Amino acid sequence: MNSLEIQQNLYNIRQRIEKAASVCDRNSKEIQLVAVSKFHPITAVQAALSHNQFIFGENRIQEAKEKFTPLLEINPDIRLHIIGPIQTNKIIDAVKIANVIETIDRVALLDPLQKAIDKTGRCPKLFIQINVGQEPQKAGIMPSEANDFIETCIKKFGKKIQGIMGIPPVEQNPTPYFQQLTSFARQYHLPEISMGMSADFEQAIACGATLVRVGSAIFGNRPPKL
Ligand SMILES: *Cc1c(COP(=O)(O)O)cnc(C)c1O
Repeated sequence: MNSLEIQQNLYNIRQRIEKAASVCDRNSKEIQLVAVSKFHPITAVQAALSHNQFIFGENRIQEAKEKFTPLLEINPDIRLHIIGPIQTNKIIDAVKIANVIETIDRVALLDPLQKAIDKTGRCPKLFIQINVGQEPQKAGIMPSEANDFIETCIKKFGKKIQGIMGIPPVEQNPTPYFQQLTSFARQYHLPEISMGMSADFEQAIACGATLVRVGSAIFGNRPPKL
């Protein structure tokens, strides 16, 4: 994708977000577009930046660091979301670079996270990832354990716990899964709900998403490796 194609894609996605919001009587200003730049080169991010896209999502901490450290020096307005599973030994790097960590998914991450926050004096906003499809290959706390986990997280991190994130199983109607994510968020009065990707963000908006994470529909198919 060249810069012009990325611009056109961004324009189209923003239009589709507006439309999806208006169809269900929501204000599109409540919905943030997270541009998922994983595996795409820095030039793709720069193209999006030049079209006023400042919120980005990355899966891997190492890749996020390499790509965004130089960009953040020039563009302090960038907001970086970590949307992939985090190894415990990478949590400190995640805390250093992210504005939002969307993938708090297990009890074993909580003490290292607290330590990283204490050590860096920095605390990103935190979302809890729920494995709504109960899929063994996916990260996220299982729905049956989610209440306990969310309560533990809120006790430990208070208002820093800002939202719920999830990914429905592929090739199924995502709506019931989106509704389940929304009901967890409402139950705990968490303001943010991160759900919906290139294939299903309009349905996610209809179910209450406040962030949609869109990758390939903006940047094209992902190259196999950076
Ligand atoms: C890759 C990824 C996305 C973006 O997926 P697309 O289908 O390319 O829009 C969104 N969320 C997560 C967690 C991802 O890993």
